[in-house]
Amino acid sequence: MNGKIIILSAPSGTGKSTIISRIIDDPELRLGFSISATSRAPRGQERDGVEYYFITTDEFKARVERGEFVEWEEVYAGTCYGTLRSEVERVTSSGHNLIMDIDVKGGLNVKRAYGERALAIFILPPSREELERRLRGRGTETEERLLARLAKADYEMSFADSYDCRVINDDIDRASAEVGQLIRDFIARD
Ligand code: ADP
Ligand code: 5GP
Repeated sequence: MNGKIIILSAPSGTGKSTIISRIIDDPELRLGFSISATSRAPRGQERDGVEYYFITTDEFKARVERGEFVEWEEVYAGTCYGTLRSEVERVTSSGHNLIMDIDVKGGLNVKRAYGERALAIFILPPSREELERRLRGRGTETEERLLARLAKADYEMSFADSYDCRVINDDIDRASAEVGQLIRDFIARD
């Protein structure tokens, strides 16, 4: 049986990756992470084929031309991210539920493409101030890239109501448990 699709979106720094890392190994959820391709460089401890497939902009364009993406977006100026058809197939054909960390436009495109087979969850930060604190605390961005991410947050947040459900990431334990429960309920449905 093919697995379902779980879409997680939020402004950068809200805590999507942290929540995914907390629930990814929960055996009840049978999750597999969709490794996206990106033209950005790895940061910190990121490894090719784990967090992302890191490819050049030319390689990214060639793959777009070959129709290898379910969806792709230039999320930040000059930096593209996309979901590979091969990833969706790799994870769902084994009966696992595919969880994807994806930007707001891509998330809604995937929801449109898969309809009832997909659950779109939007994660909200408790406030803009806390979002900035988390992004700064993560210490992974230059000041310029950090400001670009914050500037985009209001725009991204305006998509929250178009998602199937919303979870506020105030406390990481509570928010991860809420996301886990939403997924459990969703995969239990026919
Ligand atoms: P995203 O994947 O949405 O860009 P991350 O998961 O990288 O965000 O989280 C951004 C930063 O905020 C990280 O340093 C993470 O440890 C921290 N963080 C995540 N959730 C919480 C929370 N509920 N309270 C405080 N800090 C958090
Ligand atoms: P980051 O650079 O912080 O890892 O990710 C930046 C943004 O790109 C996040 O909003 C993340 O959700 C989004 N993103 C990651 N992978 C994909 C993808 O495959 N498609 C789209 N459209 N966005 C993605």
